[in-house]
Amino acid sequence: MTIQAARFLGNQSVSIQEWPLPVVAPGEVLLRVRRTALCGSDIKLWNKGSTWIPGHEIFGVVDQPGHALHGKRCLVFIPVHCGHCTSCLAGDTHLCETDSVLVGWNRHGGYGEALSVPEQCLLPVPDDISDDLAPLLLDTIGTSAHGIRMAKPLVPAACPVLVMGAGPIGLGAILALQDMGFTDISVSDPRASRLELAMEFGAKAHAIDDMATRFSFVLECSGAHVARNRALHIVRPHGVVLLLGENDNPWTIEETKPIRRKDFIMMRSFYFPKSDFAQNIELLRRHRPLYARLKGQVFPLAELPQMFARFAAGELIKPLLSVGRDSAL
Ligand SMILES: [Zn+2]
Ligand SMILES: [Zn+2]
Repeated sequence: MTIQAARFLGNQSVSIQEWPLPVVAPGEVLLRVRRTALCGSDIKLWNKGSTWIPGHEIFGVVDQPGHALHGKRCLVFIPVHCGHCTSCLAGDTHLCETDSVLVGWNRHGGYGEALSVPEQCLLPVPDDISDDLAPLLLDTIGTSAHGIRMAKPLVPAACPVLVMGAGPIGLGAILALQDMGFTDISVSDPRASRLELAMEFGAKAHAIDDMATRFSFVLECSGAHVARNRALHIVRPHGVVLLLGENDNPWTIEETKPIRRKDFIMMRSFYFPKSDFAQNIELLRRHRPLYARLKGQVFPLAELPQMFARFAAGELIKPLLSVGRDSAL
């Protein structure tokens, strides 16, 4: 038995190939993929290639007869975790000190028809959350909401907030900020269409090169070094810079006077703990029509090579790979 899945060959080349049906280890289950959302962080694998099947915003149905979750619709929580280290026991299941494997990064992910998933990484999805919306509960809602919850005790809700980068994380952050009581939200992004959507969500446009206006809470969601450095520059004294964007290359900071002569806090978060999941479902339910606007174009596996290239070029915000019998296609 084989499955169809993507291989990222490097140099922006993707091919759909036959792979053996995943071997399901003890403590794991077979998940038949229904949707996997494309993520900007996969662009580095697109450039460099990967021995693993990529894709880490995965939603599917458990196909493990006899298992308690057989037939259940589940998302995949990507950090594999031991469950008994200090971090895991504290509820920080994304910060395991023993296991650093991430599904889609160091083991096979969701750009294919099926994968084996550790039981501990299954997040059952309630029936009222559609297949197309479910993947938003991971990076788009999970990562942004977790970062904001972490910073919230340090910044007053009435303070001026800037979201840098109106991609999925930035747009998700705007909705989560509003839900958590922040009222004065600005947004910057070089792409007009994204800025427009952010403004429809209620954020005010902020010119990227405006270094004079200061903010108490800056969420850097682009991962661009130039944006990160601007964030350090424009954060107000005693303010918070929250880094949610990712970048693989070395980051150099020129310690200019506005950066050096200031007390401020810099925070970083990359994902979320499993214990956040229930409140993130409620967050999605409260603002479902707005989150639905982030739902991307749905496409079949055969189109992944072209769709990934369009996504990497910034043409599409959050395209969704659709796989299997239950596919909407
Ligand atoms: Zn991601
Ligand atoms: Zn652990």
